[in-house]
Amino acid sequence: MRTIIPNDCREIDCFVIHFVHFLAMTLLTQNYMYIDSHAHLNTSEFDKTRDELIPNLFSSDIWVINVGVNYLSSIKAIQIAEKYSSGVFASIGLHPSNIKSDFTVKKYGAEGQEENKLEENFDLDKYQELAKSKKVIAIGEIGLDYWTSPKGETKKKEFKEKQIKIFNQQLDLAEKLNLPIIIHTRVSLDDTFDALKNRKLKGVLHCFIGDIKDAERFLNLGYFIGLNGIIFKAEMDELIKWVPLDRVLLETDCPYLTPPEFESEINNPFSLDIIAKKIAELKDVSIKEIKKTTIENTRKLFNI
Ligand SMILES: [Zn+2]
Repeated sequence: MRTIIPNDCREIDCFVIHFVHFLAMTLLTQNYMYIDSHAHLNTSEFDKTRDELIPNLFSSDIWVINVGVNYLSSIKAIQIAEKYSSGVFASIGLHPSNIKSDFTVKKYGAEGQEENKLEENFDLDKYQELAKSKKVIAIGEIGLDYWTSPKGETKKKEFKEKQIKIFNQQLDLAEKLNLPIIIHTRVSLDDTFDALKNRKLKGVLHCFIGDIKDAERFLNLGYFIGLNGIIFKAEMDELIKWVPLDRVLLETDCPYLTPPEFESEINNPFSLDIIAKKIAELKDVSIKEIKKTTIENTRKLFNI
């Protein structure tokens, strides 16, 4: 997004094109002060407040990417985005915790609605059809979650293998559609890295938790790191000081992970300010710099 007017640009129309681009980018970074790169305004928690909340976000120059976790919540993310001409986008995918197994049925319940619904398999054709909407800008959230797993080695192995299989099917879809990915990884960094290392995809490790060594190998593959309210709970200070700002995206993961001191019952994209402030303090840079760079990163990754 950096605008450089080359020294050898002597043609007047070349100069005009660069100047217009420079002006447009300056206005955009002034207008759109934040982009929540990972929100779930498509969850039922927001059914009563969403139509009021989104215009309020626009008034404060906040854009939002709503992320699906299964087929129904992906459809809902698209429907919400399609209500607005700009500023709201959708990501579609099957979250590892929404994959149906004996274990997840017991843990989350089989009869869940919308974002709680479990899916036996990844239906590539159905999701590919959804991706025809111009509002779909990524595949996610997809990935691996070993935070809780069934007892017994055989069941554990089966549980992981099914997640890895469905993760790879969704990586295939992202490759096919040339879309970036939004990755969920919990207690599964090694297997996540193995799935990504030989692919030419771009994306973000959303809600990143890990140390510098963990982050470094994903940065080397070209991935971004998504930071949200978890930075107030996990030991992340050293990582935040170290990670290059041009590889960071801001996110809330709302309605989850409310940062401390956020004065709202349910987390929402307005809490980005609290997250940005903490990152600015740790990196010893201005909030303006955090906003400007993370907006550029998000626009570049998702091509928005
Ligand atoms: Zn999420």
